[in-house]
Amino acid sequence: MSKKPEMSELVAFCKSRGFAYQSSEIYGGMSAIYDYGHYGTLLKNNIRDAWWKNMVQEHAEVLALDSAIFMAPLAWKASGHLDNFDDPQVDCKTCKARLRADHLLEEFGISADKQPLDFINQELDKLKKENKLKCPVCGGCDLTPAKRFSLMVKSNIGAPTDELTDENVVYLRPETCGGIYLNYKNIIDSLHPKLPFGVAQVGKAFRNEIIARQFIFRTREFEQMEMQYFLRPEQMVEKFAAWKADRWQWYLNFGIQAEKIRWYKHEKLAHYASDAYDIEYDFQFLGGFKEIEGIHARGDWDLSQHGKFSGCDLSYTDPYTNEKFIPHIMETSVGLGRLFLMFLDQAYTKESVNDGERLVLKLDPRLSPIKVAVFPLLRNKPELVALAQDVAKRLRPHYQLEFDDHGNIGKRYRRQDEIGTPLTITVDFDSLTNQDVTVRERDSMQQTRVSLAKLEEYLHEKLGL
Ligand code: ATP
Repeated sequence: MSKKPEMSELVAFCKSRGFAYQSSEIYGGMSAIYDYGHYGTLLKNNIRDAWWKNMVQEHAEVLALDSAIFMAPLAWKASGHLDNFDDPQVDCKTCKARLRADHLLEEFGISADKQPLDFINQELDKLKKENKLKCPVCGGCDLTPAKRFSLMVKSNIGAPTDELTDENVVYLRPETCGGIYLNYKNIIDSLHPKLPFGVAQVGKAFRNEIIARQFIFRTREFEQMEMQYFLRPEQMVEKFAAWKADRWQWYLNFGIQAEKIRWYKHEKLAHYASDAYDIEYDFQFLGGFKEIEGIHARGDWDLSQHGKFSGCDLSYTDPYTNEKFIPHIMETSVGLGRLFLMFLDQAYTKESVNDGERLVLKLDPRLSPIKVAVFPLLRNKPELVALAQDVAKRLRPHYQLEFDDHGNIGKRYRRQDEIGTPLTITVDFDSLTNQDVTVRERDSMQQTRVSLAKLEEYLHEKLGL
């Protein structure tokens, strides 16, 4: 028996097991902002490292970058964010909830993504007249017309907050790729990469999102992992297809079932884009398939705009032909929090076992927060505890490990199952004479006797690490 969790169950699980907490909870909580606890941080970092290894280590032509969150404010004018980076907002006059108009329309099968406000308000009016439009929070019918709501988050640097003007305001970046475009010239001048090449980075991004209540799926502070691939326009079709295949395979390699993800092709493209797809995951607790990652062919728009606004020449000179042109860009862009939620949802399994039901996180071992747990069978037998501690000490340099001597062995197994630990090692009385231990596998619950001399080799083989 296996059942996928409701959102409230997953939120409660994340809190009680130290995966994720609402930010500033003791002060009443910040809406749509989350902190990651011990196991959550480990899981999130493992997902990030898996992405990074694939992107940068396994693709020789992809370079690394870590650019600052604050950027020249004019860059956001150039990129169009200051004028266009907004969502259509509707307010419920009854319960004061702020709602995304395009999401309200989606519920009726009307695609309003990036549509003009007039179109959105016409569609909303039609639904209002038919008495179909209701606030999803309180069920009330008194909703305002849609208005544009900027997602940009403002801050101040070098200016007192009470003197914040349009001239001295700075923005917290709403996406990480901007820093890649602004460093394109530095990268070309210092590292001299030849087209095609990519630049990858992981970092925080900030959006003043209208909607809350989607847990880690949509937050106002989040981490993005983006890769911008610079190429000749004639390379776009082939490379776009190759990266699509590559990214799809990455999900399968980490245990995502093919039927839980799908492609969404954007029909309405930005004026500079030639193709755009999203990978969507079937989040049942969010009502079905939702975007996880975007793969977009962006033309030469980004570099052209930054070239124009900065006054810098951002063209590329072909080293063989001396031809000069602005490279085109395709990007892959994914939210680390959304991947975190997807892996948790996929792994979260409740199943019947002999002594009742167990909750187990069936994570790929490479992603598991804890790789190995070591238990002495009894905590009041010093010789068992000493040997178990020896084993833990030997393994700690190689694996994120947990030592546990609390409660009975069954409870300890359950605790490790719940946080997704793939292997647990028990030191018992036979271990003292035979110099061996019991290794239990999380998913099959199969137990194997392994000699201490061969323990590292055995774990290495089982974990694939
Ligand atoms: P959505 O339509 O869900 O608002 P988007 O199309 O605005 O997303 P992009 O700007 O393409 O998203 O950002 C790329 C990726 O960054 C998304 O696929 C998602 O994984 C992640 N992302 C974007 N906004 C958020 C957010 N507020 N919270 C968490 N992750 C986000």
